[in-house]
Amino acid sequence: MDELPPLRALLERAGLWADKRLGQHFLLDLNITRRIARCAGDLRGQAVIEVGPGPGGLTRALLEAGADPLIAIEKDARFLPLLEPLVSWSDGRLRLNIADALEIDEAALLGGCNAHIVSNLPYNVATPLMIKWFKAGAWRASMTLMLQKEVAERVVAAPRTSAYGRLSVIAQTRCAVDYVFTVPARAFTPAPKVESAVINLEPRADAYPHLDVLERVTAAAFGQRRKMLRAALRGLAAELGTSAEDLLARAGVAPTARAEEIDLAGFIALAESVRSGT
Ligand code: SAM
Repeated sequence: MDELPPLRALLERAGLWADKRLGQHFLLDLNITRRIARCAGDLRGQAVIEVGPGPGGLTRALLEAGADPLIAIEKDARFLPLLEPLVSWSDGRLRLNIADALEIDEAALLGGCNAHIVSNLPYNVATPLMIKWFKAGAWRASMTLMLQKEVAERVVAAPRTSAYGRLSVIAQTRCAVDYVFTVPARAFTPAPKVESAVINLEPRADAYPHLDVLERVTAAAFGQRRKMLRAALRGLAAELGTSAEDLLARAGVAPTARAEEIDLAGFIALAESVRSGT
């Protein structure tokens, strides 16, 4: 790894600049990228998906950690000349795909094996990417993700906190979530306006399967988070031809409760109440 040219020199030589429309903030310090790779556990011989390798800092750390194969998905083809040397350095363990990660079919790329996802996510599409992976099939193993700190806090938030919302419920009904460490803005080139954080997500054996229903319930409940649930769920109940009071009674949830007071079990009970009424 040490014989590879420094990332900053590669970027300068190629005349590449960060394109903000693609959420490009690079980690050029291998100490940080190695720390992220370590958070993902023992990756030797494990298939890993990395979204947005960019100039390849985290890619280097993941290859060094033994990922095999490392399937990288990058939307910006300008980085190919920086990444291609890593393909030969890695004896073909690195497989590059120039594609939009929101569109790509990961299961088809993996051909039947499971994969961890380790990525410094493009912040503008981090939430839709996570939702896509929460919905993914059995191929998705653990995820180690760098995100805006504020989004990371929402993923791990507990009930009765201001960060608790739709993303917390959806993430935590699918995965055991863990906030690992905060990364200051100055660690990136160029520095973003906000701090970032690394989170770990381990699939839950008892993951709630009806995510579409849970999305409808949480959208209605948190869409009007200051209202009592008997008011916030009125529209959803009407669509189902029932009343919010009935939906809540079937779930054993108090009609006067507010969304942020409802724990995961409560939201699952509400989703089941919706399912039994459809
Ligand atoms: N991994 C690099 C690092 O840590 O230095 C770059 C991380 S940068 C925050 C996000 C990367 O995701 C950029 O390389 C960007 O081009 C890429 N990207 C943005 N949107 C994407 C998408 N929809 N699909 C795949 N890659 C995307």
